[in-house]
Amino acid sequence: MTAVPSVRDDLKALSPYGAPQLDVAVQLNTNENPYAPSPRLQAAVAEAVKNVAGTLNRYPDRDAVDLRKDLAEYLGHGLPAERLWAANGSNEIIQQLLQAFGGPGRTAMGFEPSYSMHPLISQVTCTRWVEGSRDAGYGLSTAAGQVRARRPDVVFVTSPNNPTGTAETLEVIEEICDSAPGLVVVDEAYAEFMRDGVPSALTLLPGRPNLVVTRTMSKAFAAAGTRLGYLAADPAVVESLLLVRLPYHLSTVTQAVARAALACKDEPLATVQALRDERDQLVDWLRGHGLTVADSDANFVMFGGFAGRDADVWQAMLDRNVLIRNNGPDGWLRVTVGTPEEMEAFRNVLTEVLGL
Ligand SMILES: *Cc1c(COP(=O)(O)O)cnc(C)c1O
Repeated sequence: MTAVPSVRDDLKALSPYGAPQLDVAVQLNTNENPYAPSPRLQAAVAEAVKNVAGTLNRYPDRDAVDLRKDLAEYLGHGLPAERLWAANGSNEIIQQLLQAFGGPGRTAMGFEPSYSMHPLISQVTCTRWVEGSRDAGYGLSTAAGQVRARRPDVVFVTSPNNPTGTAETLEVIEEICDSAPGLVVVDEAYAEFMRDGVPSALTLLPGRPNLVVTRTMSKAFAAAGTRLGYLAADPAVVESLLLVRLPYHLSTVTQAVARAALACKDEPLATVQALRDERDQLVDWLRGHGLTVADSDANFVMFGGFAGRDADVWQAMLDRNVLIRNNGPDGWLRVTVGTPEEMEAFRNVLTEVLGL
């Protein structure tokens, strides 16, 4: 053989996922927490790694029992550890869910615009993707009807949604659960940023064995580099995932670092409060300058009012060293909430670019 064998036919048209990782002074494009771990948290993480370093000749606890207990305690809602499951980022959680509940001959559905990894991981796991739609305000008031019509095996509901920032009401999620013949996965990657009074779908878990709520330490927990995602669901869902997870998928180091970060949770959660305040100010500022802004319960804001020009505005901001994201509907851009200094730079550059 003289050439590399050709890749699976259904992958040929794909390109690798990638928000640009550009070397720019102000990076507001991937919804990370801008506050690096404090020296105290850094020391706790280093200590945790040191404590397990002497055991690295052995495989990790493949069921991550202690970590799942810590995650259950963090989530509250009376959840026992058997209802928790953890993996390398919530992307791996989504992959495991689709491997177990999707796959050849099965379908998964989401409501676009939403998180692009849901259709992408569906495709890679040979799960047919069914594209649902949102209502005019980017909400899901029509979703349950679409689910009843299409009967997908897996439904994704991103709340707060990425890229729009909008959160769903429990009534909407309840109706989707009642309408779905299969699994309903509520992706709550941004749950900690929700405004006061906006409830988590975790409260709906009792009595709903088809509901799965996924979370991540990549956003609020300021631990994107740790790669730790998790879910809460019926214990039978967790049992099913044991069939598809790779043996020892979660390294001893990952488990130890995640547990150390959970033990110091007050620190990242204090930054969450600051980021929520900064977000609300940003929404007011954008609206005050005549831009259209979607309500945000996340650590980013989708703003618009420049149909046909969003690529130009995005590029003009990048030329001035502010990197935001151009992944939403036509005429909209998404900006991650950063530090006060970064947001000042964003406001100054946007003012200049748009002539506000
Ligand atoms: C960022 C994000 C994730 C996080 O993925 P990780 O693999 O945990 O880093 C999951 N879902 C949504 C909607 C996101 O925006």
